[in-house]
Amino acid sequence: MDLMYEAATIHRKYHNPNEVQVSTLLSIKTGGCPEDCAYCPQAARYHTDIEKNEMMSVQEVKAKALRAKEAGSSRMCMGAAWRNVKDGRDFEQVLEMVRTINKLNMEVCCTLGMITENQARRLAEAGLYAYNHNIDTSNDYYDKVISTRSYGDRLKTIKNVRKTNITVCSGGIIGMGERLEDRAKMLITLSRLDPHPESVPINALVPVEGTPLENQHCVEIWEMIRMIATTRVVLPQTQVRLSAGRNEMSKEGQTMCFFAGANSIFAGDKLLTTPNPDIGEDMKLFQKLGITVQKPFMKRDQPKTVEKEDSKLESLGEKPKWSRPKKIKENNQMEESSLRN
Ligand code: SF4
Repeated sequence: MDLMYEAATIHRKYHNPNEVQVSTLLSIKTGGCPEDCAYCPQAARYHTDIEKNEMMSVQEVKAKALRAKEAGSSRMCMGAAWRNVKDGRDFEQVLEMVRTINKLNMEVCCTLGMITENQARRLAEAGLYAYNHNIDTSNDYYDKVISTRSYGDRLKTIKNVRKTNITVCSGGIIGMGERLEDRAKMLITLSRLDPHPESVPINALVPVEGTPLENQHCVEIWEMIRMIATTRVVLPQTQVRLSAGRNEMSKEGQTMCFFAGANSIFAGDKLLTTPNPDIGEDMKLFQKLGITVQKPFMKRDQPKTVEKEDSKLESLGEKPKWSRPKKIKENNQMEESSLRN
């Protein structure tokens, strides 16, 4: 109770407690990912029911963004199941999507995997508002969950994003078998980023059949409230996003999260590939709680889009060497001893 009170007090100091920012997360390229994130149904090596899809067209994405805006979203976040961004046709298409959505006066966010400084600069020039790159958990626990890239690579991408005016969105997932200390250490890492990430998504693992974490228990709502409240205390000015796992939470549980400092959600019936509450239900809850939806660009100005033909930045055709630190996890295999609950 003391933690919630402290978090709510800090929340009121830095934010309008009756305002929540709403983002829509859209998978623009689904499945077939070469990485081995143990929680993710999009990893090609796991046998899940995910339907693999090629890149969506700019027009399709624009139509989805318009629908999201109409339903109350101020931010459109586009996710592609890639290890890292590769210069070329697909990235050019993403840049066009960014230009298109920024012109709809929505905040545009991308989550595309690891990126170089030049790629970050090109996204910034197209009008990207935020780049999401989660650190997922603590440095200590990271290799129990992912073996195909290092924690350092994650931080390097965040550093590349910070060289531009794009804001940083980075958080993690609880319920992957980590200890409380790992959750705390993840928050310490985020709090040592200077400046702090502008937004931090806190996800509860949604165990998906076919992934190594399929048998994990869902986290209790109390753990989520404690994580949200602690995040608010540690990162007072950050937008704390109540992310995956909301479908399993009661309305009362979510309300406690908002009270404890969560001031952003992902809306839409799917979060990339896992189920999420209907946006109409979210809006009804907000109405009941007297919460209003935050307008776009309240925290900083809308970036200006530079058209492709006016751009001074070009594709460098880079082939950066991101690490592949450890053994590759085989299909659905996770060392039993590494899971702690
Ligand atoms: S979380 Fe992202 S990088 Fe990891 S397997 Fe899924 S799509 Fe690939």
